Amino acid sequence: MPEGHSIHRLARQLTDVFGGQRVRVSSPQGRFAAGAELLDGHVLTRAEAIGKQLLVSFDHDGTGTTTNDDADRHRVLRIHLGLYGAFSFGGDASFAGASSIGAPRRMGETEHGTADAGEDVEYTGPPAPVGAVRVRLVSDHGWADLRGPTACEVITAADVDALREAAGPDPLREDSADGEDSANDDGATFARLLRRRGVACGQLLMDQAVVAGIGNVYRAELLFRAGIDPYRPGKKITEQEAADLWADTVFLMRDGVRLGRIVTTQRDPEHAVAVEDLTLDVDAADIPAEASRFVYKHTGEPCPRCGTTIATAVMAGRNLYWCPGCQH
Ligand SMILES: [Zn+2]
Repeated sequence: MPEGHSIHRLARQLTDVFGGQRVRVSSPQGRFAAGAELLDGHVLTRAEAIGKQLLVSFDHDGTGTTTNDDADRHRVLRIHLGLYGAFSFGGDASFAGASSIGAPRRMGETEHGTADAGEDVEYTGPPAPVGAVRVRLVSDHGWADLRGPTACEVITAADVDALREAAGPDPLREDSADGEDSANDDGATFARLLRRRGVACGQLLMDQAVVAGIGNVYRAELLFRAGIDPYRPGKKITEQEAADLWADTVFLMRDGVRLGRIVTTQRDPEHAVAVEDLTLDVDAADIPAEASRFVYKHTGEPCPRCGTTIATAVMAGRNLYWCPGCQH
């Protein structure tokens, strides 16, 4: 399942290629026909992510903006990719060139460029839909197809405010500080939500009401880097440990947004982690795939820190990976 960093990249991509433009919205597969009709022909103002939820806003009063003052007048496409959802993008040179990421791409659990990329190919409009395309967005310069999402619905901007209220702090929110800025208390909110329950911390990290955007890979790697046993109850996490976990989450996930993949073995120049002597002092972009994670999917291998065999078990519905020797 795509973790928060992928959804933030996707939001950035959609804003880059469609922001401020009138967009044709359809549902070639038919399952989203009624929703598409509500959005079709309106200006796509921006896309944003709240944890793993993707929210694409459309202007419904012709001003080209969506402000909270008119929360009920604007429509928002809410998407949760779930396990199988993914977007494909394609278009002309300006469509690709406008992107911070580079289109065309397929973006879901993994991300990669598609074969039909290339400025020298003349753009003649979107191709015939392939497979079950739930939503198709089309502008003058390109298109995006969404297949296989878990959730896809039209909500109001007021509903978005309610979603924001219910979600835990998002380490990738633009204004989310890493603890240095006293005006921002996301780190303190995370610590309070994590430390108030007796549930295993490995389960709490996957709870989107505690922290928005962490998935299975980051859960395993963050707890390993911190030297924390995933079965330790949230209540038994110290305030300092919670603050360090938040700082490390912000650091790792921001690199995930930059890179488009998860690398957890790099050194954080600002915050020490328990696994400091094992981290690599090079840019995360230069770390090869096989050296990019400490424990995730390393079941049965010796722990790089203490040599104990790395274990796996199911927790919160997903495979957990950890070292029983050095995570306490
Ligand atoms: Zn170990």
